[in-house]
Amino acid sequence: LCEVEHSTSGAAYFLGLDIGGTKTEALVVDQQLAACGWAKERTNTAAPDALVVNIVTTASKAIAAAGVSPDDIAAVGVGIPGQVLPASGVVRLAVNLGLKEYPLQDALEAAFHVPTILENDIRLAAFGAFERLHRETSKTKRADSLAYIGIGTGIAAGVVLNGKLYRGARGMAGEIGHMVVEADGALCNCGQRGCLETIVSGPGILRQAARLLPGANVRHAGDVYRLAEEGQSEAKEIVSHISRHLAQAILWLLLTYDVTHVVIGGGLTRAKTAFLEPILGELHRQRMQSPLIAELLGSTQISQLPPEDNAGLWGAIRLAQQQAEQGQGVEGRLGD
Ligand SMILES: [Zn+2]
Repeated sequence: LCEVEHSTSGAAYFLGLDIGGTKTEALVVDQQLAACGWAKERTNTAAPDALVVNIVTTASKAIAAAGVSPDDIAAVGVGIPGQVLPASGVVRLAVNLGLKEYPLQDALEAAFHVPTILENDIRLAAFGAFERLHRETSKTKRADSLAYIGIGTGIAAGVVLNGKLYRGARGMAGEIGHMVVEADGALCNCGQRGCLETIVSGPGILRQAARLLPGANVRHAGDVYRLAEEGQSEAKEIVSHISRHLAQAILWLLLTYDVTHVVIGGGLTRAKTAFLEPILGELHRQRMQSPLIAELLGSTQISQLPPEDNAGLWGAIRLAQQQAEQGQGVEGRLGD
């Protein structure tokens, strides 16, 4: 349980924020990472300054719910659905938040008066999923690398290597949604055709359903999985198409990063076994064909993120904690 202490020794709490296109969540934890206060608000995407006010309000509510003062917060970690430039904290291409290019880290740091660090939400979910795995696995068999695949309105991956979040030079490592998998496929938001995202994503699945299941009442991607479970043959075809592509994406990540764990999360995975089983079936088929793939998959754990696990929010908390640890006595923009 959370221990609220009003010590004189300084700030002792961390604040994590998960900013989505529709809702923003904030969580305050103590030094032992026990939850102290939580808040959730609708995200205001009307304009950048409205978004900043909205984020700060949500944070204030979580701080109030924790029964602490803003001065008790040591650092803030924030997850954003967009590209975060590593050096400047400028957010780019966050289309769901209406931000094309905006210095959000500076704006939030000015409001919070403590070190504030931003990261792409999928990368943070990878970090959060890794932390949970790390806690759960025994000390002798500790996880040290993981790839997280997040599927929602798009698809992307986050990678943790040797216990550290791997961002890449531009913060784009793991953007597998824009690997082209179908020549002359559907047009993607990125300008290319046939990206993985045009097939494996909420909108991608709805488009396939509109073509193959024109009469069916499909409103969410999950409806396609339900129809497939009921034995509807076109729905089964769509699910197997998605699963083949996801199995391929898992193999790309394994061949590129050689991680020991792959975790899949996001709205689509709520279909539980109906979601994971056909992917594992496809991977099994590939394993039978290739000793190389068999070797690779033999010691890899593939799992689904439990739906109640807000990995993104926990990743934000851990990022804040790391920031506070590094910020003490270290030079650089966060130390000055
Ligand atoms: Zn694309």
